[in-house]
Amino acid sequence: RSINLDTLIAAFAGIETITDPHQVAKLSQDYHTFSPVLVPKLEGKVGDIVVRPANEQEVLKVAAICAKYRVPITVRGAGTGNYGQCVPLYGGVIVDMTKMQEILWVKPGVARLEAGVKLAALDKKARDLGWEMRMTPSTYRTATIGGFIAGGSGGIGSIQYGLLGDRGNLLALKVVTLEDEPRVIELRGDDVQKVNHAWGINGIITEVEIPLGPAYPWVEVIVTFDDFMTAAKFGQALGNTDGMIKKLITIFASQIPQYFHALHQYLPGGTHPAFLMVAESSLESLPGLVQQYGGQITYQKPAFEAGKGANLGEFTWNHTTLHARTVDTSITYLQSMFPADPQLQLVEHLYNYFGDEVMMHLEFFRVNGKVIAGALQLVRYTTEKRLNEIIAYHEQQGVLIANPHTYIIEDGGRKVIDPEQLKFKEMVDPYGLMNPGKSKVLQFKIKN
Ligand code: FAD
Repeated sequence: RSINLDTLIAAFAGIETITDPHQVAKLSQDYHTFSPVLVPKLEGKVGDIVVRPANEQEVLKVAAICAKYRVPITVRGAGTGNYGQCVPLYGGVIVDMTKMQEILWVKPGVARLEAGVKLAALDKKARDLGWEMRMTPSTYRTATIGGFIAGGSGGIGSIQYGLLGDRGNLLALKVVTLEDEPRVIELRGDDVQKVNHAWGINGIITEVEIPLGPAYPWVEVIVTFDDFMTAAKFGQALGNTDGMIKKLITIFASQIPQYFHALHQYLPGGTHPAFLMVAESSLESLPGLVQQYGGQITYQKPAFEAGKGANLGEFTWNHTTLHARTVDTSITYLQSMFPADPQLQLVEHLYNYFGDEVMMHLEFFRVNGKVIAGALQLVRYTTEKRLNEIIAYHEQQGVLIANPHTYIIEDGGRKVIDPEQLKFKEMVDPYGLMNPGKSKVLQFKIKN
C-alpha cells in the first residue's frame, strides 16, 4: 500500500513529528561516514518523516499506524552507530526515541530505564548511589541505552565485565511489536538475546533493565614505551592481573598519538602509549608493573578530577578513529578480535606485516573468562579492493573481523542471525517493516 505524507501526518496527530526536509535528512544519518565503502552506498537515503514518541502509549500508536499503512520504520537513538544501522534504505518513518528519558529506578546493582536515556545520565544517577554502568561505548555522553543494546557491543569497562552480548550483561527488555494490534512484550533471562544487537529489526525497545557495577574512583593514566610489542605485552599483563581493578587498557602504535592534539605534551614522539583507567585503590600497584616492562608514566589524572579537562576514554575505542579522521579523512578502520594468546604472536605478525598501512590500536577485554586483545586498527584507505585484501589476510591468519564496512547484519560481527532472533522477528514484525534491507535472509518485502 502506498500512503501520502499528509495522511501520515494526520494519523500521527498529538505526537511530535518533524517534516522539515533538512532535519529529516539529518535524522536519517549516523556515523557510517567512517567507512569510505558505506558512504556511496548509503548516499541520499532518507526517511519521509520523523516521529518522536514521548511514552509507551505513543510508541504503540506509531507502531499501529505504520503497521496499518505498511510503512517501513527505522528506530534511532542518538544516531552514533557506525554501520548505517540508522539509515533508512526504503524511506518511511524515522522513530526517534530520545524523548523517552526517564530513569525508572536504580537499585543496588541494577537499573531500569526508558530506551532514550543517555548513558551518561544513567551513569551520573547511578554513581550518586555508589553504582555505575558496567561498560559504556566511548560515545557515552550522547548515545542512548536502546541504541547501545540494539547497535553496540561493548567498550570502556569490557576489560572487567566482557561484552554486552555476554549472558548477564542485559537483564530485561520491553519491546513494542509492529503487528496490526501492537503489543508490549517483556523479555527476561536468555530471551533478551532475541533483541540484543538486532539493529532495530526486532521490535521497538521502550524499556531496559541492566546490571550495574560498583562505582570506583577511576584514575586515568598514560604510560609510554619505546617498543610496540612491549607496550602490548604490558597491556596483556595488566589485563591478567586479577587483583587490580581496571576499566580501560588501550595500546597505540607510535603513529597514532599524532592525532591526539590535546595530549601532545604527554606523548613523546616515537613512543607507543598505553591509555589506562585504574581504580584509585589499585593505583599503588601500577608503577611496579610499569617498571617491569620498562615504561614511563607521563600523565595521571586523579579520580576527583574526572570529567575535567581531557577525558582519556574519549581517545579510545572508536574515538581513536574519530580523532584520526579529523586530521586525515582518508583514514578508516577495522574491528578485530585476536585469539587468546598471552604472547600476542598474531598481533606482532600483523603489526610488522602491514607496517604503516594498518596502524595498530589494541583494546583489551574479557571474553569467556580470558583477557584478549581486540583491535580497532586505523587503515590508510586506498581502494575497496585493497581494504578487502587486508580484511581477508587478517581472517586467513585467524583474526575475527567484525567488518564495519557493511550495512548487512550478517556480514558484520555476528556472521549469522540467530534462529531465535528470526523466529521472534516473524512474530513481532509480520510485515517486515523494521529497518528493511539490513539483513540478507530478510530481503525487503512488505507483505500485504
Ligand atoms: P543509534 O545509532 O541511534 O542506533 C543503533 C542501532 O540501534 C540502530 O540499528 C537503531 O535502529 C537501533 N535502535 C536504537 N534505538 C532503538 C530502540 N529503542 N529500539 C530498537 N532499536 C533501536 N560502540 C560500541 O559498542 N563501543 C564503543 O566503544 C563505541 N565507540 C564509538 C565511538 C565513536 C566515535 C562512534 C561514532 C561510535 C562508537 N560506537 C561504539 C558505536 C555507537 O556509538 C554505540 O554503539 C552507541 O551505543 C549507539 O547508541 P545510539 O543511541 O547512538 O544508537
